Amino acid sequence: MIIGLLLALQLGTPPVYDRVILGGHVMDPASKLDAVRNIGLTGGRIAIITTRAIQGRDTIDAHGLVVAPGFIDLHAHGQTPETYRFYSLDGVTTALELELGTADVAAWYRERSAGERINYGVSIGHIKVRMAVMHDPGTRMPVSDGAYRAASPAQIGEIAQRMEMGLREGAVDIGAGFPYTPAATREELLAVFRVAAKTKTPIHVHIRPGVDGLKEALALADETHAPLHVVHINSAGLAETPAMLELISAARAAGHDVTTEAYPYDAGMTEIQSATIQDVYKTAPDERVAELEWPPTGERLNRESFERYSRSGGPVVVHTNTEPMVAVAITSPLTIIASDAYWQDGTGHPRTTGTFARVLGRYVAHRSPSPEGRGGQGVRLMDAIRKMTLMPAQRLEPRVPAMRQKGRLRVGADADITIFDARKVLDRSTYREPSLAPVGIQYVIVNGVSVVANGQAVEGVAPGRAVRAVQAP
Ligand SMILES: [Zn+2]
Repeated sequence: MIIGLLLALQLGTPPVYDRVILGGHVMDPASKLDAVRNIGLTGGRIAIITTRAIQGRDTIDAHGLVVAPGFIDLHAHGQTPETYRFYSLDGVTTALELELGTADVAAWYRERSAGERINYGVSIGHIKVRMAVMHDPGTRMPVSDGAYRAASPAQIGEIAQRMEMGLREGAVDIGAGFPYTPAATREELLAVFRVAAKTKTPIHVHIRPGVDGLKEALALADETHAPLHVVHINSAGLAETPAMLELISAARAAGHDVTTEAYPYDAGMTEIQSATIQDVYKTAPDERVAELEWPPTGERLNRESFERYSRSGGPVVVHTNTEPMVAVAITSPLTIIASDAYWQDGTGHPRTTGTFARVLGRYVAHRSPSPEGRGGQGVRLMDAIRKMTLMPAQRLEPRVPAMRQKGRLRVGADADITIFDARKVLDRSTYREPSLAPVGIQYVIVNGVSVVANGQAVEGVAPGRAVRAVQAP
């Protein structure tokens, strides 16, 4: 006591932080810190991580809770206030739309410049750029020439040029989805990969299905030396997921810059009018059509209802994967957790609201933060956190220096922090009720400001900022 007082006198008045998080179990994959600490935040950054007592103008009692870096989602299609709110309740502090992306990067960021609930960012998307160049009338996905017409050499040149412009405007990276653009020739895809290689930008690709689809993407990356990120390996791989993870592992061992991601659900969801659905199910036998579920009614589709809903349009649930394959994907040390959040017109896939809580609640082997190591089918809690924080930050940081300040708990890092109860955290959303928020995510802090407190969304706050690559000279 006396020594403490003397020390305080010697150092002057102890600092009062904007906000302090006291007594939480701090888990930081970058530093491997895995112990009880107090954290002080000032000016949107982490100012101190300490065992000493500290004070702040605002105090969060984190005793019994895990304090982790805020989760970073590389694959979040919903980019609206409604979906940012969902993501925040699932512990996400940065949500990036990197697969579909946009055709107009400057406009995309301008629309959000007043601030959002969480941090946001976008890629320059080959699908969207191709829709613009081919004058496709689709709203979200190509439905006409953007999907089904081969581009002329001049159009391929224009596509590449627009991709480069998007990067100059600060796009986080490049997005592509080969099954959505089936008429894109190898020449066209090579042109897009060359843009990625020239600018050292990762290209996030929704590959064609299975091992063959992965080999195609790896060959394009190999030929051009583009950094490659394979999105949702679980839904691209299905039963071939283990073989595909081995291929990625081998490519990495051979020195290729290849990464991948997964979401923890055995059904996918996409627009019924998109080429990915129409190309497969238009001529499929009835038992294949029954893989499709119509979310508003929960009905499995048949030929008649498939045709009917294809005319009206809307999201459809696709039941094609198995839980063992999802578990293989989620527990692999190679995968980043990314939601592929999908939400439109008030409905969507439960992964929009539950991905991160679901991994923490259902795929972590030892749900208390003890260093007991792997067990059963699950991953260690520290490894699960790494897949949601450090790994996605590191994927982006060569192109986006701002990401070096995210995904870690260290002095000077952005105060993006997720605080959860490791014993209780669990998703609740389902295909019938996709908007239900998870339980156990207690506090979510974005740039030093709470957007979730006591498990509830804080209303009227917009501390989220643009995540954007530095503009090339
Ligand atoms: Zn996709």
